[in-house]
Amino acid sequence: MGKPTGFLEFGRELPKKKDPSERVKNYNEFVEVFPEEKLKTQASRCMNCGVPFCHSGCPLGNIIPEFNDAVYQGNWEEAAEILLSTNNFPEFTGRICPAPCESSCVLGINKPPVAIEEIEKNIAEIAFSRGYIKANPPKKRTGKKVAVIGAGPAGLAAAAQLNKAGHLVTVFERADSVGGLLRYGIPDFKLEKSIVFRRAKLMEEEGIVFKTNANVGENVKVKEILNDFDAVVLSGGSTTPRDLNIPGRNLKGIHFAMEFLSQQNKRVSNIERTVDHTGRPYKNGDLLATGKNVVVIGGGDTGSDCVGTSNRHGAKSITQLEVMPKPPEGRTEQMPWPNYPMILRTSTSHEEGCSRNWSITTKEFLGDEQGNLKGIKVADMGWVTEEGSKLPKFQELPGTERIIPCELALLAIGFLHPQKEGMLTEMGVEFDDRGNVKCKENYQTTTNAKVFAAGDMRRGQSLVVWAISEGREAARNVDIYLMGSSQLEARDTGVLDTTVV
Ligand SMILES: Cc1cc2nc3c(=O)[nH]c(=O)nc-3n(C[C@H](O)[C@H](O)[C@H](O)COP(=O)(O)OP(=O)(O)OC[C@H]3O[C@@H](n4cnc5c(N)ncnc54)[C@H](O)[C@@H]3O)c2cc1C
Ligand code: SF4
Repeated sequence: MGKPTGFLEFGRELPKKKDPSERVKNYNEFVEVFPEEKLKTQASRCMNCGVPFCHSGCPLGNIIPEFNDAVYQGNWEEAAEILLSTNNFPEFTGRICPAPCESSCVLGINKPPVAIEEIEKNIAEIAFSRGYIKANPPKKRTGKKVAVIGAGPAGLAAAAQLNKAGHLVTVFERADSVGGLLRYGIPDFKLEKSIVFRRAKLMEEEGIVFKTNANVGENVKVKEILNDFDAVVLSGGSTTPRDLNIPGRNLKGIHFAMEFLSQQNKRVSNIERTVDHTGRPYKNGDLLATGKNVVVIGGGDTGSDCVGTSNRHGAKSITQLEVMPKPPEGRTEQMPWPNYPMILRTSTSHEEGCSRNWSITTKEFLGDEQGNLKGIKVADMGWVTEEGSKLPKFQELPGTERIIPCELALLAIGFLHPQKEGMLTEMGVEFDDRGNVKCKENYQTTTNAKVFAAGDMRRGQSLVVWAISEGREAARNVDIYLMGSSQLEARDTGVLDTTVV
């Protein structure tokens, strides 16, 4: 703990963001650089708690007080070493993690928490700029070959860890470029794609082979993967979107968020928009919000990314609908510290402008004679206690039906499970109750000892930090499967573990 009185002397401060009216003119990141001195001051607010709840709040078990101390002392190389020991990609999480660590920071009980995420991002960026993060190929190879299928954060983390253990890793990715949702979901204004490419290049220099446009189960045979590799990690994500099957669903102008977002990712990179992020042709041509009344259905991260993108397209109006009630502004008794609270969150895209609506049910899409979407019939929801019943029910409120004008509706209501047809069916994996790949506790599928699964494909739609965590855990278990023991770091202890199975 560099400065015992830091938390008493200094308040929480974050870097400035470009003004919304300026930033919507392009797709660049807009958070300004935070000077090193300010970062040191922010790190000095860390109290080095006896029981650092932030450490267990982070799904990666990031060793936060230790890197805060190194930052305060100006030891950026040491800070990077500590951070990279638990997190393969702090340059991603430092930008887009919802930071559950900060929700469980002890200082957060009665003051704003330590700015952990901003410190993390800057440790990564300073480490890249000063050459502390560089290709570090393994000294020895084991001769074992591992296939990783899907190059999202889970697959990339698994690949990085398995390569570090000396295995020969080939990553198969069906899109034309690696990164998964980091590449073809999350907009550039949250995460510029040069950040993803910089990491992928480094991994290639470390000896990992990336095969893009390689759709396992289609143009790459499942049988070949099972024959040619000693172990396989399935990290294909949760890609089946939840649909909204209400009258009028087949009108022109209603699209899944990912069709809209992935096109914009391609547009920014000047890539031809012929096939989508799954390698299939775009059926509906170029999707633009320009001049349209846009309704985003779904109040989560994906919906918020649609809002930010629609603003940049120059939409006439943007309305976001959420069926659930508006969350409270602060913690309630049901969400005590150090739990991650389900409170009202205003994203940077919301700051840029849109109408946010809660407790709204979407009843019908309405169109014109040519089959084009023109409006959405909605109604309010509320808690109603019916006669003869003691408990209130969340239901449509009579007399609240109305029509919102809309020419572009974007469905951002989540993902059900991974795509089952093709690779997973051919692999013969079992599915759990939610339709995700069923695994034992060690991430090994229940059907084939050499096949493991990680990330959204195993745990269901989640977060980047969880995907990285899953990739690391799966890699360690693959290493144990191949070698009998593993020197790769373990999540729970943060120390070397040599468990033998
Ligand atoms: C629009 C959007 C915004 C989000 N924003 C955030 C955010 O701000 N912060 C956050 O923490 N989380 C966010 N998330 C969630 C986060 O992106 C995911 O939880 C995370 O990317 C999951 O990682 P993954 O590696 O498991 O899967 P994915 O990132 O989905 O990657 C899976 C990869 O596997 C490939 N693949 C699938 N099947 C095959 C096959 N048969 N052969 C070859 N390749 C295959 C896919 O093409 C894809 O590239 C967001 C999600 C969406 C959709
Ligand atoms: S990865 Fe996320 S939860 Fe973990 S320390 Fe970073 S911001 Fe916090």
